[in-house]
Amino acid sequence: MTEAWRPDDEDERRGAAGPVKVRVPAKVNLHLGVGPLRRDGYHELNTVYHAISIYDELTARRGDTLALTMEGEGTGELALDDSNLVIRAAHALAGYAGVLPHARLHLRKQIPLAGGLAGGSADAAAALVACDALWGTGLSRDELAGIAADLGSDVPFLIYGGTALGTGRGEAVSPVLARATSWHWVVAIADVGLSTPAAYRELDRLRDSGAAGAPLGSTDALLGALRQRDPRVLARTLGNDLQDAALAMRPALADTLKAGEAAGALTGIVSGSGPTCVFLAADAADAERIAAELTSAGVCREARVAHGPVAGARVG
Ligand code: C5P
Repeated sequence: MTEAWRPDDEDERRGAAGPVKVRVPAKVNLHLGVGPLRRDGYHELNTVYHAISIYDELTARRGDTLALTMEGEGTGELALDDSNLVIRAAHALAGYAGVLPHARLHLRKQIPLAGGLAGGSADAAAALVACDALWGTGLSRDELAGIAADLGSDVPFLIYGGTALGTGRGEAVSPVLARATSWHWVVAIADVGLSTPAAYRELDRLRDSGAAGAPLGSTDALLGALRQRDPRVLARTLGNDLQDAALAMRPALADTLKAGEAAGALTGIVSGSGPTCVFLAADAADAERIAAELTSAGVCREARVAHGPVAGARVG
């Protein structure tokens, strides 16, 4: 076992002297194909991740211990102890790189908890990137993604961002070739979150009882649409196998989806395991109008506009 690294004057210069600020996006799944339940408790996935412009921000400063504070979404609800993915990520990086896990971390959250937008995973990705810069451990993105995979299925994608294919349990990520198009989204956030394991269990139950819809096919149509610039073509190819489960657990989401489409969205789907619904808009002005209509219709806590794809966790 190697001895833990202790900062001396020279090592202090190796890392960042001042605070390191990292911005990390939320994700939606443009295609979420859920396969069978594996023996390890995860489902085999065939998914297309897409990073959108709703961000959490993590600031890392030098400290004598590891400590986490936060503000924004989920403050007072989210545990800030060793169970928090940010703390787990800092420990994982320190263990990998052989350094002491000392940092003062502050999280500003805009991504809702348990929303199907991978907020917790985003924060773990941000912690890996921020601590790597603070400690001067200098790992590559691929190395960080390797550590990320043990923290959660969505964490590696949030190291890279953009639009990417996810396989395995979602942790095996490869970038998707797409035109440099910015897509316009409306994100309808619910009052109360949904548990991801519960949504997967509900899908298994629906499938066992023959009540689930047909599983999504291949991602070919979606990947083809991403190479064009027409949001109407893209709209026809979005899909989510977990949507039936989310709707079974939260029937009111059907009203949210209907309201978005009535307001002029090209299509709407549940994001990941829900309950957030995402709508594709024809352009930025349409997205603003749909968001305002959804907010006033009272079918969600809040509707925000976003664009994608955007970069993953980045310093700056
Ligand atoms: O990987 P992560 O910790 O984010 O997953 C949370 C939960 O979601 C898992 O414990 C599992 O119940 C479910 N899950 C799954 N199949 C996947 C990813 C997640 O069943 N591919």
